[in-house]
Amino acid sequence: MDKRQLARITSCRVCKHPEPETFFDLGYQPFANHLLDTPDETEKSYPLQLSFCPNCRLVQLNHTADPAELFGNYYWVTGTSSSTRVYAERFCKEALKRIDKNIDGSYILEVASNDGTFLKPFLERGITVQGIDPAANIASLANDDGVPTEVDFFGEELAERLIMKQGPAALTFARNVLPHVADANDFVAGLKKVMAPDGLLVLEIHYARHILEGLHYDSIYHEHLCYFSIESVALLLRRHGLSIVDIGESSISGGSLVLYVKAEGVASPSSEVTRWVKEEQADQINELSTWRDFADRSRDHAGRLARAIAEEKAAGRSVAAYGASARSSTMINFAAIGPSLTMIADQNKIKHGKYTSGSHRRICAPGAMIDSHPDTVLVTAWNFFDEIEQFLRGPLGFTGRVIKPLPELAIMETEQT
Ligand SMILES: [Zn+2]
Repeated sequence: MDKRQLARITSCRVCKHPEPETFFDLGYQPFANHLLDTPDETEKSYPLQLSFCPNCRLVQLNHTADPAELFGNYYWVTGTSSSTRVYAERFCKEALKRIDKNIDGSYILEVASNDGTFLKPFLERGITVQGIDPAANIASLANDDGVPTEVDFFGEELAERLIMKQGPAALTFARNVLPHVADANDFVAGLKKVMAPDGLLVLEIHYARHILEGLHYDSIYHEHLCYFSIESVALLLRRHGLSIVDIGESSISGGSLVLYVKAEGVASPSSEVTRWVKEEQADQINELSTWRDFADRSRDHAGRLARAIAEEKAAGRSVAAYGASARSSTMINFAAIGPSLTMIADQNKIKHGKYTSGSHRRICAPGAMIDSHPDTVLVTAWNFFDEIEQFLRGPLGFTGRVIKPLPELAIMETEQT
């Protein structure tokens, strides 16, 4: 492993407090999404550490990777899952319910719009839409599909250009992107700028509370720079004259929050907002001691997972994994179980034939994994566990053991037929 350094933050990413405190060091890790073409490629690895800001309570990575290097190799396409398309329709309805005026002459803007899956329901209702995405290959899929998409990184500068070209947006949304941007202040300033004065902003974020309670240490990787609670994201929004008016939950991605945001003074927060904030305080979500405990529990879990896999091997059982995502890279590499896995199945065809980062396991189609007759399957994409288990037990006819790593490590014995 070729150990490299990265620019280290000298102050909090949001409030600029000079001393965020490091509480979790995951060592040197490769970029989780960087798949290899051959198993013997030499890979670069970079520090992966989390710290806590004592001022604004933001949990954040200590180091920032170069976005061009990090995102140069992007394989995720939103629309690949059917549950995603169902959710996109629901997301559209919920957002439109909250814009109680005629939006003729305005448009809907999605930042980091990927293949356009979430803009399509708006387009189908005859509403003008605009997507922005930095990945040229994925934006071209969207454009081919009739969803106008510009290739760029979003920030204040791009917002100014959009305003000049198209005017303010009645609805702006950004799903699971705010935690990934290196300059969160520039990003939110851009969102505020492009919004109509009474416009709605919808933000989806992987929620710090779910990370803590569900032990989502596998969600820590170099792209994921900020781990927001409602308190810490509200503080960021307030710095730019925005406030959370309502909160909902996403049915996908294993625990995201949907924040409905307006300019300060336009609407009062709903009782839901007050309830969520109070619950965070009661459960000490924004305390360093809680996050130190999370680091301890994560190390303990990774140790137990490694022992469980070692026991499978010791009993003569071969173990394959299901799910070659960024999250599975962190889990496999942090628990150091890569050498014990025969291969990793994934439904995304673009990944087939490539090798996982760090662990260098071959990625194959689910059917090819079954053909290799594994005795045990570790479901690393555990956030889709029920869907995957049904697929394994049903169409794939797998009768061996299945391991669900999180939120509780569980081994399901051979199914009796
Ligand atoms: Zn801070």
